Amino acid sequence: MLTLKFFNIIVGSWIILALIMFPVLLRVIAPYGRYASTNWGPLISNRLGWIFMELPSLLIFVILFLTGNVSKEISSWVFMGVWVVHYTNRIFIFPLRIRTTKKKMPLLIMGLGIIFNLINAFLNGYWLGYLSSPYLNVWLTDPRFIIGFTAFIAGFIINQASDNHLINLRSGMKTGYFIPQAGMFKYVSCPNFLGEIIEWTGFAVMTWSMPGLSFAIWTAANLIPRALHHHKWYGSNLKDYPEGRKAIIPGIL
Ligand code: NDP
Repeated sequence: MLTLKFFNIIVGSWIILALIMFPVLLRVIAPYGRYASTNWGPLISNRLGWIFMELPSLLIFVILFLTGNVSKEISSWVFMGVWVVHYTNRIFIFPLRIRTTKKKMPLLIMGLGIIFNLINAFLNGYWLGYLSSPYLNVWLTDPRFIIGFTAFIAGFIINQASDNHLINLRSGMKTGYFIPQAGMFKYVSCPNFLGEIIEWTGFAVMTWSMPGLSFAIWTAANLIPRALHHHKWYGSNLKDYPEGRKAIIPGIL
């Protein structure tokens, strides 16, 4: 069993790595989706890549949460519930819904995704299962729980609605890229990423934990650069792209 001190050193190092990766990801575009390329080695189907990449998040988190000896209170089940709902969608629903026929992603991206997800799921599952103090029922009325949970739900709704809109842009066998216009796309190019960041920030606040914080920071470090790249790509590749739209934070960035 890991000591709390050693565990905190791992989480601290993981956060520092996210801060180092942020400027790297501003320069190096992750080569999947519209940036997919054969220059990054062997490829795998996009759908399978998503499923294999995200599966460890669900398995590792649930195993550690359930096997750990920290007593399970209502709040703990809420933490597990939101994690399971998010990843059930990401593993079993999202990859089957995307209109991605014949598209591929590099195995390297899938491998890096697996490592990323293993670490985040391990840190959060181990914390909640083995190391944290029990989140007693009084935590349910704590402002941190209420604000964090509300943020998680709001972020989940924004993420889902935005991903749905993107998927529907290719309805009727269409391929290629179109200008999204619905919902929060009126304000930003990537509300799905904004929603995802709000979700995991909410999770960090509702668990009030370092592993939760590290996951929120990593999500932002991944998705803010990707949103900036998407925004630039839209401006260069789609005619009449709305000028006032920002990349990810309405009115700001
Ligand atoms: P994208 O927004 O790049 O793409 C989402 C889907 O919509 C893809 O199938 C894409 O097709 C399609 N699409 C995107 N834009 C358009 C358009 N203008 N017209 C038509 N179709 C479009 O998201 P990602 O694939 O990067 O991410 C998917 C989900 O995973 C998101 O919800 C994101 O928040 C989450 N995620 C979370 C991370 C984290 O660190 N927690 C990291 C990465 C993703 P195509 O693939 O062909 O481009």
